[in-house]
Amino acid sequence: MLLEVRDLHVTLPDQGQQLRAVRGIDLEVPAGETLCLVGESGCGKSMTALALMQLLPRNAKLSAEKIRLGETELTKLSERKMSALRGRKISMIFQEPMTALNPVFTIGDQLRSVYRRHTGANKQEAQARAIEVLESVGLTNAAVRLGQFPHQLSGGLRQRVLIAMALMCEPEMIICDEPTTALDVTTQAQILRILKDAQDKRKMGMIFITHDLGVVARIADRVAVMYAGRIVEIGPRAAVLQNPAHPYTRGLIASVPRPKDESAEGARLASIPGNVPAFHREDQRCPFLSRCPKRMEVCTREAPPKRTRHWDQHVFCHLPLEEQEVQPA
Ligand code: SF4
Ligand code: MG
Repeated sequence: MLLEVRDLHVTLPDQGQQLRAVRGIDLEVPAGETLCLVGESGCGKSMTALALMQLLPRNAKLSAEKIRLGETELTKLSERKMSALRGRKISMIFQEPMTALNPVFTIGDQLRSVYRRHTGANKQEAQARAIEVLESVGLTNAAVRLGQFPHQLSGGLRQRVLIAMALMCEPEMIICDEPTTALDVTTQAQILRILKDAQDKRKMGMIFITHDLGVVARIADRVAVMYAGRIVEIGPRAAVLQNPAHPYTRGLIASVPRPKDESAEGARLASIPGNVPAFHREDQRCPFLSRCPKRMEVCTREAPPKRTRHWDQHVFCHLPLEEQEVQPA
């Protein structure tokens, strides 16, 4: 297994209390596979990503039984060792490229410096690598682009530059936090293709955070559905999208317009009555309790059991599996 995460928790100070942003999640990503993390905003997706990169805000607390990348246990690394891995073995692409790129340095400065820092290459080698990677993400006139500043590029081009930066050192694992959300549909499709190609070439593992089910349908091998800091369902893409078992996943998928009348492109997860609750105290009960249309008495007392359908679709819910089967339409 390329990436293995066990019992990850992230806690953040929040107006004198402790907000439990991530509450005990387990994940695995084999080489060459894409795990999509989906869920409404505030469910802990980005905090999970930042925790894996060890880039959480300073005041956040992380605990985990295990965050293992290849042979390396990341929770045991010093910041110096971790920063030597970041960008080389594990990279991240953020949603807003303008904040992730430094406005005062040229694209070339930024790409070359990532490469030189990790590989010790000289300036010419770094320049050649930068051109090669920019071309691989579909930028024309790469040599000219290298002399430009981030503000001189369109949003779509900036996002490609960020992908190029993440790929400079051929990482084993890449984490993408809604990298296409701000882009138009055509650019989005191009970016997804570029990421997929890069992944196929190098058998990279990928975690892709999105709330766009059209994107999930396109790129996920497996899907993890997060809710209020927990994973409530995880399984192969087809199983989760076509035969969701958890009442929350079902609500999400039901809220998406049917693909027959319009493309699922840009379809957002939305409109389940109520808000995602924030947890300040530990509560082992189902996180969806306050909004669940299927709630039972046992749900108000006991932690939901993990149920497994077809060996690899896992659901945390008290409903018996028979009742989680989707009724034929
Ligand atoms: Fe609903 Fe109970 Fe299942 Fe939670 S455990 S999703 S409240 S039925
Ligand atoms: Mg986010």
